[in-house]
Amino acid sequence: MRIIDPHCHMYSRTVDDYEMMGLCGIEAVVEPSFWIGNDRQHAGSFFDYFNHISEWEPKMRAAKRGMHHFCTIAMNPKEAENLTLAREVIAGMQTFLDRTTAVGIGEIGLNNVTPNEEKVLAEQFEMARKLDVPVIVHTPHNSKLAGTLRILAIAKDCKVNPQRVNIDHNTEETIRHTLDAGFWAGVTMYPRTKCTPQRARDMVEKFGAERVLLNSACDWETSDPLTVPKAAKLMLMTGFSRAQVRGLVWENPYNFLAQSPKFKQVMEPVFKEDEQPVASA
Ligand SMILES: [Zn+2]
Repeated sequence: MRIIDPHCHMYSRTVDDYEMMGLCGIEAVVEPSFWIGNDRQHAGSFFDYFNHISEWEPKMRAAKRGMHHFCTIAMNPKEAENLTLAREVIAGMQTFLDRTTAVGIGEIGLNNVTPNEEKVLAEQFEMARKLDVPVIVHTPHNSKLAGTLRILAIAKDCKVNPQRVNIDHNTEETIRHTLDAGFWAGVTMYPRTKCTPQRARDMVEKFGAERVLLNSACDWETSDPLTVPKAAKLMLMTGFSRAQVRGLVWENPYNFLAQSPKFKQVMEPVFKEDEQPVASA
């Protein structure tokens, strides 16, 4: 099964993970900017990190293992409480958004749902609206429903196009709200905590696969870069057709991300390979 995982923090993984992911069918990943395991004190630390995920990671680690690696750039919600630092970071983002591997803005969102986090979120929604690029949005792990509804309201106020936005980390209680508001609905699967592949499979059965984006969000904590292929396999074994699963793990992320011309330019020929006639022997 061909797969795109639209949310992976490869910065925190080893190259062995790239190899295993490739063997399991993952052909492309998107690395959103996020917290790196500790709070940064200087804007320059963010810029070094943006440089890493937009240049070093794709060229020096991913490409050598046959993986297409893209990124999104943002001031993440977990470090957005320091408004002075957040605004300094936002002011320096454009250089990195201009990189050929940078396909949008993210992860923006809310963590503790504070007024400062909301300001930083709204300012970056405004930026995304002007640039008209895909956006990845982190929803809080605590107060999930209230936090998600607040994000949907802020997105509406900022007049961002819902078709460009992946509201991520949905659960059974939030996914209908996200889809009904016209957004893409990310479902992040972890091996044990939060949403498992089984729960994701059941959500797709109940709410449908349209505009749903399965991802692993593999990072520094207990996580698994193979949850998308594991969910795909589970779905094939439990009543879903190959076409349905392919639509979910390959066509959906392609269609969402190909709204970035930079993603489309690289991935369209890869995506269309299946359409090429096989030369007869
Ligand atoms: Zn993430």
